[in-house]
Amino acid sequence: MRATTAFNKMLAVPGADATGVEFTPTGIVVSLRRRARRLTCPCGWSTRSVYDRSVRCWRGLDLGATRLLLRAEIRRLSCRACRRVRTEAVPWARPGARHTRDFEDVVAWLAQRMDKTSVSRLLRCSWEAVAAIVTRVVAAAIDDSRLDGLYRIGVDEISYRKGHRYLTVVADHDRGGAVVWAGEGRDAATLEQFYDQLGEARCARLQAVSLDMGNAYAKATRTKAPQARQCIDPFHVVQLAGEAIDTTRRWAWNTARAGRPPSGPRDRPNRTTRKGSPADQIKHTRWALLKDPARLKDSQRAVLENLRRSRHVLWRAYVLKEELRDLYRLQPGHRPDTHLDAWLARACRSRIPAMVKLSRTIRRHRDGILAAVELGLSNSKLEGMNSKIRLINHRGYGHHTAAALIAMTYLCAGGITIQLPTGR
Ligand SMILES: [Zn+2]
Repeated sequence: MRATTAFNKMLAVPGADATGVEFTPTGIVVSLRRRARRLTCPCGWSTRSVYDRSVRCWRGLDLGATRLLLRAEIRRLSCRACRRVRTEAVPWARPGARHTRDFEDVVAWLAQRMDKTSVSRLLRCSWEAVAAIVTRVVAAAIDDSRLDGLYRIGVDEISYRKGHRYLTVVADHDRGGAVVWAGEGRDAATLEQFYDQLGEARCARLQAVSLDMGNAYAKATRTKAPQARQCIDPFHVVQLAGEAIDTTRRWAWNTARAGRPPSGPRDRPNRTTRKGSPADQIKHTRWALLKDPARLKDSQRAVLENLRRSRHVLWRAYVLKEELRDLYRLQPGHRPDTHLDAWLARACRSRIPAMVKLSRTIRRHRDGILAAVELGLSNSKLEGMNSKIRLINHRGYGHHTAAALIAMTYLCAGGITIQLPTGR
């Protein structure tokens, strides 16, 4: 069998035949000849007239440990649709790429699963090349149709670069929280970009948007999709309650140390921090207070029991937090609005500053919080995604530019399936 025949069978390059094989120090170079005479613009327009010609090399998947390069003539055409001179499309690579489609698909598949250093080392290409490939593969894999049929969406911010930079991420509640859009920044203007891309008709079809308690996303949604019901995501409510617990702990600790009684009728002042004193009781309470009661360890249960028996201010704060969480686990027949209003009244009278403050915030967002309960919407899928994006960042894909991180977000959380060359 001739070498070219062997390579033709082995590589099966779409739309081209191998005409020669060279073994060079950089790797195996296979020369290709195109079967089609017509030139096709990446836009789809085709012609027989050639503007000019040159030779280009594409890196293919390694043969064993040897690099493979495909060399072919590539022509430019004067495209009437694009009204400019463009380089023709080739069947084995994406426009503008210096790697074959197979090579790029393997990079993208690995990038969904592996850190950037490993991918670039395994495939012997630079970080920049990996980032460029991911961006190109994602651009080809996503199109505007993903924005069709959006009815219930969730919006959240995601921090990267150690919390100095933010992305706004929009996910589809009806497609398992798949990311449909991501943009740099976290202000109203960022989310407005998404609504603008969605267009008026599709904005008008939005039924519900779940978001945080900040003003930015609410404002953008009010302006661009006024008919959509704004729901406050339960995650943010519970998170805020957790923060109020932390503040109460610090406050109780400081007041106990200072010997002042924390407010509350049954708390007695105690100047020392001997065992069993209010200050001593506060130590090691943090996780017991914040954890889901169903998942408490015995020692944490004991901590809470101790607080309960002494009617500690932290116990009252804890009960308030759990009663707020009960809003999301009400049995059928219990009205969420009655539950929330009763809670607001109790929290506001609690004389625990952080809880009073919490009640004010909750009261301000009462309608949105109840809407989320009624519609059963939660950004928890988005929060799962938050950790996914942190993982992407951690794997080294998010350090450089927002664009690279956005491409990776689509690749890993946008429901894109990459077909491996071996799986076709
Ligand atoms: Zn064109």
